[in-house]
Amino acid sequence: MKGVERRLLRRLPRRVPVVLGVLAAVQGVLLVVQAELLVRAVAGLDWRPLPWLAGAVAVRAVVAWVVTAVAGGGAARVKRGLREALLARPAGDAGARVTLLTRGLDAVDPFFTGYVPQLLAACVVPVVVLARLVSVDWASAVVVLVTVPLVPVFGALVGLRTAALTGRQWALLHRLGGHFRDVLAGLSTLRAFGRTEHQSGVVRELADGHRRASVGALRVAFLSSLVLELVCALSVALVAVPVGLRLLEGRMALSAGLLVLVLTPEVYLPLRALGQRFHASAEGVAAAEAAFAALEAPAARWEGGRVVPGRGAPEIVLEEVTVRYPGAEGAALDGVSLRVGPGERVAVAGPSGAGKSTLLLVLAGLVVPSSGRVLVDGVDLAELDPVAWRARLGWVPQRPHLFAASVADNIRLGDPDASEARVREAARAAAAAGFVEDLPEGYATVLGEGGAGLSAGQRQRLAVARAWLSGGPVVLWDEPTARLDLRSERMLVEAAVRLLEGRTAVLVAHRPALLEVADRVVRLEGGRVAGAVHEEAA
Ligand code: ADP
Ligand code: MG
Repeated sequence: MKGVERRLLRRLPRRVPVVLGVLAAVQGVLLVVQAELLVRAVAGLDWRPLPWLAGAVAVRAVVAWVVTAVAGGGAARVKRGLREALLARPAGDAGARVTLLTRGLDAVDPFFTGYVPQLLAACVVPVVVLARLVSVDWASAVVVLVTVPLVPVFGALVGLRTAALTGRQWALLHRLGGHFRDVLAGLSTLRAFGRTEHQSGVVRELADGHRRASVGALRVAFLSSLVLELVCALSVALVAVPVGLRLLEGRMALSAGLLVLVLTPEVYLPLRALGQRFHASAEGVAAAEAAFAALEAPAARWEGGRVVPGRGAPEIVLEEVTVRYPGAEGAALDGVSLRVGPGERVAVAGPSGAGKSTLLLVLAGLVVPSSGRVLVDGVDLAELDPVAWRARLGWVPQRPHLFAASVADNIRLGDPDASEARVREAARAAAAAGFVEDLPEGYATVLGEGGAGLSAGQRQRLAVARAWLSGGPVVLWDEPTARLDLRSERMLVEAAVRLLEGRTAVLVAHRPALLEVADRVVRLEGGRVAGAVHEEAA
């Protein structure tokens, strides 16, 4: 069992596996009772056990229903716990988090309602049935005891191979999806340069690879169930043939022989079903893995304190801030110290990958430093109330997210109570009014999910309008002018001069126009401060 599964199980209230174990034992006993009644009816040509048999079948159905209810309750508890924990953590990638919180985690249901009860049944039922077999005919019991371990052994062997193949298939599907998206995005360029033929060749090749991998995985999957069927069938035959011979020779009573024949397959059945349940729960285990990873990301640790930051423009000091992303080799920020005075405007420049966005994420509290700290007016950021701190921020991320709502509502996210006039003012300040008024329904135009229908520059300007509206004393902008034409850039920079007045600002900027607005430029290189350039010539 992998670590994820064990961790999922640990989140289950202790009594759930206990109750499920007891229910599995009850089911095992009922199975034996049912077999005995059946044998008594058949061997004795007696109708009297039949009502009892019907009763046993009915009780088994009730027990199965209780198992599902108990396991489903446990699954709901675990999902609620995971969702609450995830909701309390800030997310860097909101879209993926939403998927995980909604549909993603529901995929763990088959794990709890299918795999876990089956696992307990596979541990308990064979033992109960074997105990009865021993008392009927110990020779058959020995054969079963010897062959039963073959089922999990073969299952594991085949499972390992399937896992490797499925992994390859997923990797190929992933590559195919990524490539396809890139090709679609660049289709016009490809056409212009007459490269479409080549690209269709590449897509065909990748698709072909994926097809082969899928068929390969399917072949192994089918083969695996065949192998398991065969193992079970042969084992049952090993028991059945001697029993048959002994019955013929009259060395065994009919009722005993029948009981052995009826009970033997029941030992193998739960083990065989376990494999299927395991495969059905794979998606949920993957979702749980993603959830645990999200809970462990460094951003996960900011629980936040209770200190409410002041209303004025604060002084922000970074002390030896280091950020390491999980799985990344070097540090994204490496011992960065920086002081931004109250009302000071600092521009951060540097090559791509220097850690500029990471610096802003740290200031926004969306990434927690691995070491070092951030002081806001002398108070550690970790001690500030996250909600109050974010309400102080005018935050424009590098890739702002727009929701499938009207343009006005998207801007209003900065201040839900803003009037229509304020929304328009914000759009004007962010050089967004022009293109918004050209949209078919102006401010009432409903955008697609993720701002579909707008260019990257337009999305950025809406995000600036949003930040403008929030009007907090701290401004964090991540390359707001990166994709603007010169005229829009000019308008935005003019708006920025007014907007940044009396606020503490950290602006990530490449182009000179926005650098002019700053009091000071700090260069980042490879996660370190490469030197502060005082902006005097501007
Ligand atoms: P910049 O904004 O200056 O281009 P970033 O702050 O985005 O730089 O990234 C700094 C470094 O951290 C880069 O090497 C980048 O690959 C890495 N990085 C950024 N975000 C993540 C992440 N979520 N997980 C792992 N590595 C990341
Ligand atoms: Mg960046």
